[in-house]
Amino acid sequence: MYFASDNTSGIPATIMDAMVRANHGYASGYGTDALMDKVRARIRTLFEAPEAEVLLVTTGTAANALALATVCPPWGAVYCHTLAHIEVDECGAPEFYTGGAKLVQVSGTEGKINPDALADTLTRAGRGVVHNVQPGCLSLTNLTECGTCYSLAEIHALTDIACAHGLPVHLDGARFANALVAEGCTPADMTWRAGVDILSLGGTKNGCIGVEALVIFDPARAWEMQLRRKRAGHLWSKHRFLSAQMAAWLEDDLWLDLARHANAMAARLEAGLQGRLMFTRGGNMLFATLPRATHEALQKAEAQYFLWPDHQNDADSVSVRLVTSWCTTEAEIDSFLAIVGQA
Ligand SMILES: *Cc1c(COP(=O)(O)O)cnc(C)c1O
Repeated sequence: MYFASDNTSGIPATIMDAMVRANHGYASGYGTDALMDKVRARIRTLFEAPEAEVLLVTTGTAANALALATVCPPWGAVYCHTLAHIEVDECGAPEFYTGGAKLVQVSGTEGKINPDALADTLTRAGRGVVHNVQPGCLSLTNLTECGTCYSLAEIHALTDIACAHGLPVHLDGARFANALVAEGCTPADMTWRAGVDILSLGGTKNGCIGVEALVIFDPARAWEMQLRRKRAGHLWSKHRFLSAQMAAWLEDDLWLDLARHANAMAARLEAGLQGRLMFTRGGNMLFATLPRATHEALQKAEAQYFLWPDHQNDADSVSVRLVTSWCTTEAEIDSFLAIVGQA
Protein backbone atom coordinates (compact mmCIF):
# COMPACT_ATOMS: atom_id res chain seq x y z
CA MET A 1 0.00 0.00 0.00
CA TYR A 2 2.36 2.65 -1.33
CA PHE A 3 0.56 5.96 -1.52
CA ALA A 4 3.35 8.30 -0.39
CA SER A 5 4.06 9.61 -3.89
CA ASP A 6 3.98 8.52 -7.49
CA ASN A 7 7.79 8.58 -7.44
CA THR A 8 7.86 5.51 -5.18
CA SER A 9 6.90 3.42 -8.22
CA GLY A 10 9.41 1.82 -10.55
CA ILE A 11 9.25 1.99 -14.32
CA PRO A 12 7.25 -0.05 -16.83
CA ALA A 13 9.12 -2.82 -18.69
CA THR A 14 8.56 -0.98 -21.98
CA ILE A 15 10.69 1.91 -20.77
CA MET A 16 13.37 -0.36 -19.31
CA ASP A 17 13.48 -2.25 -22.62
CA ALA A 18 13.91 1.04 -24.46
CA MET A 19 16.88 1.87 -22.22
CA VAL A 20 18.42 -1.52 -22.96
CA ARG A 21 17.88 -1.01 -26.69
CA ALA A 22 19.49 2.43 -26.47
CA ASN A 23 22.54 0.79 -24.93
CA HIS A 24 23.85 -0.51 -28.24
CA GLY A 25 26.57 1.02 -30.32
CA TYR A 26 27.33 4.72 -30.36
CA ALA A 27 25.17 7.82 -30.34
CA SER A 28 26.20 11.44 -30.43
CA GLY A 29 25.95 13.37 -27.18
CA TYR A 30 24.36 16.51 -25.75
CA GLY A 31 20.93 16.14 -27.29
CA THR A 32 22.05 15.52 -30.85
CA ASP A 33 21.10 11.82 -30.74
CA ALA A 34 18.59 10.38 -33.19
CA LEU A 35 16.20 9.45 -30.38
CA MET A 36 16.00 13.10 -29.39
CA ASP A 37 14.96 13.96 -32.94
CA LYS A 38 12.17 11.45 -32.48
CA VAL A 39 11.14 12.96 -29.11
CA ARG A 40 11.12 16.49 -30.52
CA ALA A 41 9.06 15.44 -33.53
CA ARG A 42 6.62 13.47 -31.37
CA ILE A 43 6.07 16.36 -28.94
CA ARG A 44 5.61 18.80 -31.83
CA THR A 45 2.97 16.52 -33.32
CA LEU A 46 1.23 15.78 -30.03
CA PHE A 47 1.09 19.47 -29.15
CA GLU A 48 0.28 20.59 -32.71
CA ALA A 49 3.19 22.97 -32.37
CA PRO A 50 5.65 22.49 -35.25
CA GLU A 51 7.88 25.32 -34.02
CA ALA A 52 8.08 24.29 -30.36
CA GLU A 53 11.50 23.63 -28.87
CA VAL A 54 11.93 20.66 -26.56
CA LEU A 55 14.77 20.23 -24.06
CA LEU A 56 15.17 17.36 -21.61
CA VAL A 57 16.34 17.66 -18.01
CA THR A 58 16.30 15.20 -15.14
CA THR A 59 14.30 16.91 -12.41
CA GLY A 60 11.13 18.90 -12.23
CA THR A 61 12.90 21.51 -10.15
CA ALA A 62 15.42 22.10 -12.95
CA ALA A 63 12.64 22.22 -15.54
CA ASN A 64 10.62 24.75 -13.55
CA ALA A 65 13.55 26.94 -12.56
CA LEU A 66 15.00 27.03 -16.10
CA ALA A 67 11.58 27.73 -17.57
CA LEU A 68 11.01 30.63 -15.20
CA ALA A 69 14.50 32.01 -15.87
CA THR A 70 13.75 31.95 -19.59
CA VAL A 71 10.54 33.97 -19.32
CA CYS A 72 11.11 36.20 -16.27
CA PRO A 73 13.85 38.80 -15.67
CA PRO A 74 15.81 39.01 -12.38
CA TRP A 75 13.75 42.05 -11.34
CA GLY A 76 10.49 40.30 -12.16
CA ALA A 77 7.73 38.83 -10.04
CA VAL A 78 6.58 35.24 -10.57
CA TYR A 79 2.92 34.95 -9.55
CA CYS A 80 2.10 31.51 -8.20
CA HIS A 81 -0.25 29.79 -5.79
CA THR A 82 0.60 29.86 -2.08
CA LEU A 83 1.16 26.09 -2.15
CA ALA A 84 3.03 25.95 -5.49
CA HIS A 85 5.94 23.52 -5.72
CA ILE A 86 8.17 26.38 -6.93
CA GLU A 87 7.29 28.32 -3.77
CA VAL A 88 7.32 25.50 -1.21
CA ASP A 89 9.46 22.62 -2.46
CA GLU A 90 12.34 23.84 -4.59
CA CYS A 91 14.78 25.27 -2.05
CA GLY A 92 15.04 28.61 -3.81
CA ALA A 93 15.96 27.15 -7.23
CA PRO A 94 13.53 29.46 -9.09
CA GLU A 95 15.02 32.49 -7.35
CA PHE A 96 18.54 31.20 -8.00
CA TYR A 97 18.14 30.41 -11.70
CA THR A 98 16.15 33.55 -12.48
CA GLY A 99 18.92 35.57 -10.82
CA GLY A 100 16.68 36.80 -8.04
CA ALA A 101 13.12 37.06 -9.32
CA LYS A 102 10.59 37.35 -6.52
CA LEU A 103 7.92 34.71 -6.03
CA VAL A 104 4.62 36.38 -5.19
CA GLN A 105 1.98 34.14 -3.66
CA VAL A 106 -1.61 34.39 -4.80
CA SER A 107 -4.30 32.64 -2.81
CA GLY A 108 -7.21 30.49 -3.90
CA THR A 109 -9.11 27.49 -2.61
CA GLU A 110 -8.30 23.88 -3.53
CA GLY A 111 -4.80 24.77 -4.76
CA LYS A 112 -6.13 26.93 -7.61
CA ILE A 113 -5.26 30.59 -8.03
CA ASN A 114 -8.35 32.76 -7.59
CA PRO A 115 -8.74 34.99 -10.69
CA ASP A 116 -9.93 37.99 -8.65
CA ALA A 117 -6.98 37.66 -6.31
CA LEU A 118 -4.62 37.51 -9.30
CA ALA A 119 -6.22 40.55 -10.96
CA ASP A 120 -6.07 42.45 -7.68
CA THR A 121 -2.41 41.55 -7.08
CA LEU A 122 -1.48 42.62 -10.61
CA THR A 123 -3.37 45.88 -10.35
CA ARG A 124 -1.37 46.76 -7.25
CA ALA A 125 1.94 45.47 -8.63
CA GLY A 126 3.59 48.84 -9.19
CA ARG A 127 4.46 48.46 -12.85
CA GLY A 128 6.71 51.30 -13.91
CA VAL A 129 7.64 52.15 -10.33
CA VAL A 130 11.39 51.75 -10.02
CA HIS A 131 11.15 50.65 -6.39
CA ASN A 132 8.96 47.61 -7.15
CA VAL A 133 9.74 44.27 -8.73
CA GLN A 134 8.07 44.30 -12.12
CA PRO A 135 5.37 41.83 -13.15
CA GLY A 136 7.32 38.95 -14.70
CA CYS A 137 5.21 35.86 -15.35
CA LEU A 138 2.37 33.70 -14.11
CA SER A 139 3.09 30.11 -13.05
CA LEU A 140 0.27 27.56 -12.82
CA THR A 141 0.39 23.91 -11.73
CA ASN A 142 -1.84 21.18 -13.16
CA LEU A 143 -2.65 18.88 -11.40
CA THR A 144 -2.43 21.31 -8.50
CA GLU A 145 -0.71 20.61 -5.20
CA CYS A 146 -4.14 19.84 -3.73
CA GLY A 147 -4.71 17.14 -6.35
CA THR A 148 -7.37 19.20 -8.09
CA CYS A 149 -7.45 19.82 -11.82
CA TYR A 150 -7.82 23.22 -13.47
CA SER A 151 -10.47 22.98 -16.18
CA LEU A 152 -9.70 24.64 -19.51
CA ALA A 153 -12.10 27.46 -18.62
CA GLU A 154 -10.26 28.03 -15.35
CA ILE A 155 -6.89 28.11 -17.12
CA HIS A 156 -8.23 30.58 -19.69
CA ALA A 157 -9.62 32.83 -16.96
CA LEU A 158 -6.14 33.13 -15.44
CA THR A 159 -4.10 33.33 -18.63
CA ASP A 160 -6.45 36.04 -19.95
CA ILE A 161 -5.57 38.17 -16.94
CA ALA A 162 -1.86 37.46 -17.42
CA CYS A 163 -2.15 38.32 -21.10
CA ALA A 164 -3.94 41.60 -20.36
CA HIS A 165 -0.91 42.51 -18.23
CA GLY A 166 1.54 41.34 -20.88
CA LEU A 167 2.81 38.39 -18.84
CA PRO A 168 4.03 35.05 -20.20
CA VAL A 169 2.60 31.92 -18.57
CA HIS A 170 4.47 28.87 -17.27
CA LEU A 171 2.73 25.59 -16.51
CA ASP A 172 4.28 23.17 -13.99
CA GLY A 173 3.11 19.87 -15.44
CA ALA A 174 4.76 17.39 -13.09
CA ARG A 175 1.38 15.62 -13.39
CA PHE A 176 0.37 17.07 -16.75
CA ALA A 177 -0.61 13.65 -18.16
CA ASN A 178 -2.93 13.00 -15.22
CA ALA A 179 -4.57 16.38 -15.73
CA LEU A 180 -4.86 15.85 -19.46
CA VAL A 181 -6.66 12.51 -19.28
CA ALA A 182 -8.85 13.81 -16.45
CA GLU A 183 -9.91 16.80 -18.51
CA GLY A 184 -10.15 14.74 -21.70
CA CYS A 185 -8.68 17.43 -23.91
CA THR A 186 -5.70 17.63 -26.26
CA PRO A 187 -2.20 18.72 -25.16
CA ALA A 188 -2.60 21.85 -27.31
CA ASP A 189 -5.90 22.71 -25.61
CA MET A 190 -4.29 22.64 -22.18
CA THR A 191 -1.19 24.59 -23.20
CA TRP A 192 -0.62 27.11 -25.99
CA ARG A 193 -4.25 27.28 -27.04
CA ALA A 194 -5.05 28.14 -23.41
CA GLY A 195 -2.37 30.82 -23.24
CA VAL A 196 0.52 28.77 -21.85
CA ASP A 197 3.94 29.79 -23.20
CA ILE A 198 6.23 27.27 -21.55
CA LEU A 199 5.57 23.85 -20.04
CA SER A 200 7.43 21.58 -17.64
CA LEU A 201 6.20 18.20 -18.87
CA GLY A 202 6.78 15.63 -16.14
CA GLY A 203 7.81 12.10 -17.07
CA THR A 204 9.33 10.87 -13.81
CA LYS A 205 6.20 10.60 -11.66
CA ASN A 206 4.32 8.94 -14.49
CA GLY A 207 6.66 6.06 -15.29
CA CYS A 208 10.06 7.36 -16.42
CA ILE A 209 13.33 6.83 -14.54
CA GLY A 210 14.10 10.53 -14.44
CA VAL A 211 13.25 12.84 -17.29
CA GLU A 212 11.18 15.97 -17.77
CA ALA A 213 10.66 17.86 -21.01
CA LEU A 214 10.82 21.62 -21.18
CA VAL A 215 8.51 22.63 -23.99
CA ILE A 216 8.62 26.22 -25.19
CA PHE A 217 6.08 27.34 -27.76
CA ASP A 218 7.89 30.54 -28.78
CA PRO A 219 10.91 29.54 -30.90
CA ALA A 220 12.43 32.99 -30.36
CA ARG A 221 13.27 32.02 -26.77
CA ALA A 222 14.59 28.55 -27.58
CA TRP A 223 18.26 29.44 -27.94
CA GLU A 224 18.32 31.25 -24.61
CA MET A 225 16.77 28.21 -22.96
CA GLN A 226 19.48 26.01 -24.45
CA LEU A 227 22.20 28.25 -23.10
CA ARG A 228 20.56 28.39 -19.68
CA ARG A 229 20.33 24.59 -19.49
CA LYS A 230 24.01 24.18 -20.31
CA ARG A 231 25.09 26.95 -17.97
CA ALA A 232 23.09 25.31 -15.19
CA GLY A 233 24.89 22.00 -15.73
CA HIS A 234 21.73 20.27 -16.90
CA LEU A 235 22.77 19.38 -20.45
CA TRP A 236 23.35 15.65 -20.31
CA SER A 237 26.36 14.27 -22.09
CA LYS A 238 25.08 10.70 -22.70
CA HIS A 239 21.80 12.25 -23.61
CA ARG A 240 20.43 9.25 -25.52
CA PHE A 241 19.38 7.70 -22.21
CA LEU A 242 17.10 10.63 -21.48
CA SER A 243 15.72 10.56 -25.01
CA ALA A 244 15.13 6.80 -24.83
CA GLN A 245 12.91 7.13 -21.77
CA MET A 246 10.89 9.99 -23.17
CA ALA A 247 10.54 8.39 -26.61
CA ALA A 248 9.22 5.14 -25.10
CA TRP A 249 6.95 7.04 -22.72
CA LEU A 250 5.31 8.93 -25.57
CA GLU A 251 5.14 6.03 -28.01
CA ASP A 252 1.69 4.58 -28.68
CA ASP A 253 0.30 6.96 -26.03
CA LEU A 254 1.87 4.96 -23.20
CA TRP A 255 2.09 8.16 -21.12
CA LEU A 256 -1.70 8.61 -21.33
CA ASP A 257 -2.39 4.95 -20.54
CA LEU A 258 -0.16 5.12 -17.46
CA ALA A 259 -1.90 8.29 -16.29
CA ARG A 260 -5.33 6.81 -16.94
CA HIS A 261 -4.46 3.82 -14.80
CA ALA A 262 -3.17 6.00 -11.95
CA ASN A 263 -6.30 8.16 -12.10
CA ALA A 264 -8.57 5.10 -12.14
CA MET A 265 -6.87 3.73 -9.04
CA ALA A 266 -7.38 7.07 -7.29
CA ALA A 267 -11.05 6.99 -8.32
CA ARG A 268 -11.36 3.56 -6.70
CA LEU A 269 -9.78 4.92 -3.53
CA GLU A 270 -12.09 7.92 -3.62
CA ALA A 271 -15.16 5.70 -3.93
CA GLY A 272 -14.18 3.95 -0.69
CA LEU A 273 -13.47 7.20 1.14
CA GLN A 274 -16.81 8.90 0.51
CA GLY A 275 -17.38 11.91 2.71
CA ARG A 276 -13.76 12.06 3.87
CA LEU A 277 -12.19 13.94 0.96
CA MET A 278 -10.76 17.40 1.63
CA PHE A 279 -10.59 18.55 -2.00
CA THR A 280 -12.20 17.63 -5.30
CA ARG A 281 -10.11 14.83 -6.80
CA GLY A 282 -8.71 15.80 -10.15
CA GLY A 283 -6.41 12.90 -11.03
CA ASN A 284 -4.15 10.52 -9.13
CA MET A 285 -3.79 12.36 -5.85
CA LEU A 286 -6.31 12.80 -3.08
CA PHE A 287 -6.49 14.18 0.41
CA ALA A 288 -8.69 12.76 3.13
CA THR A 289 -9.43 13.23 6.79
CA LEU A 290 -9.31 9.98 8.72
CA PRO A 291 -10.08 9.15 12.35
CA ARG A 292 -6.81 8.81 14.26
CA ALA A 293 -7.67 5.20 15.13
CA THR A 294 -7.94 4.41 11.43
CA HIS A 295 -4.58 6.09 10.80
CA GLU A 296 -3.02 3.97 13.54
CA ALA A 297 -4.47 0.77 12.10
CA LEU A 298 -3.13 1.73 8.66
CA GLN A 299 0.29 2.48 10.13
CA LYS A 300 0.32 -0.90 11.82
CA ALA A 301 -0.38 -2.50 8.45
CA GLU A 302 2.55 -0.46 7.05
CA ALA A 303 0.50 1.58 4.62
CA GLN A 304 2.66 4.39 3.24
CA TYR A 305 1.38 7.95 2.91
CA PHE A 306 2.13 11.43 4.15
CA LEU A 307 0.25 13.43 6.72
CA TRP A 308 -0.79 16.79 5.33
CA PRO A 309 0.68 19.35 7.70
CA ASP A 310 -1.29 22.29 6.30
CA HIS A 311 -4.40 20.95 7.93
CA GLN A 312 -5.19 20.37 11.52
CA ASN A 313 -4.12 17.03 12.87
CA ASP A 314 -5.61 16.65 16.32
CA ALA A 315 -6.29 13.94 18.89
CA ASP A 316 -9.25 12.59 16.96
CA SER A 317 -8.36 12.93 13.31
CA VAL A 318 -5.53 13.29 10.80
CA SER A 319 -5.32 14.66 7.26
CA VAL A 320 -3.52 12.45 4.77
CA ARG A 321 -2.28 12.72 1.21
CA LEU A 322 -2.68 9.62 -0.95
CA VAL A 323 -1.05 9.33 -4.35
CA THR A 324 -1.56 6.46 -6.78
CA SER A 325 0.70 5.66 -9.70
CA TRP A 326 0.90 3.77 -12.98
CA CYS A 327 1.64 0.56 -11.04
CA THR A 328 -0.85 0.82 -8.17
CA THR A 329 -2.97 -2.33 -8.02
CA GLU A 330 -6.64 -2.75 -7.19
CA ALA A 331 -5.51 -5.15 -4.44
CA GLU A 332 -3.51 -2.38 -2.75
CA ILE A 333 -6.52 -0.09 -2.79
CA ASP A 334 -8.86 -2.79 -1.53
CA SER A 335 -6.52 -3.74 1.35
CA PHE A 336 -6.33 -0.08 2.33
CA LEU A 337 -10.08 0.38 2.19
CA ALA A 338 -10.68 -2.82 4.14
CA ILE A 339 -8.65 -1.38 7.03
CA VAL A 340 -10.50 1.93 6.77
CA GLY A 341 -13.79 0.02 6.86
CA GLN A 342 -12.85 -2.02 9.93
CA ALA A 343 -11.34 0.75 12.04
C1 LIG B 1 7.27 16.44 -8.00
C2 LIG B 1 6.92 17.78 -8.48
C3 LIG B 1 7.86 18.55 -9.20
C4 LIG B 1 9.25 18.08 -9.54
O1 LIG B 1 10.03 17.77 -8.47
P1 LIG B 1 11.50 17.15 -8.58
O2 LIG B 1 11.62 16.43 -7.29
O3 LIG B 1 12.44 18.29 -8.69
O4 LIG B 1 11.58 16.26 -9.77
C5 LIG B 1 7.45 19.79 -9.65
N1 LIG B 1 6.21 20.23 -9.44
C6 LIG B 1 5.29 19.52 -8.78
C7 LIG B 1 3.91 20.05 -8.62
C8 LIG B 1 5.61 18.27 -8.27
O5 LIG B 1 4.70 17.57 -7.60
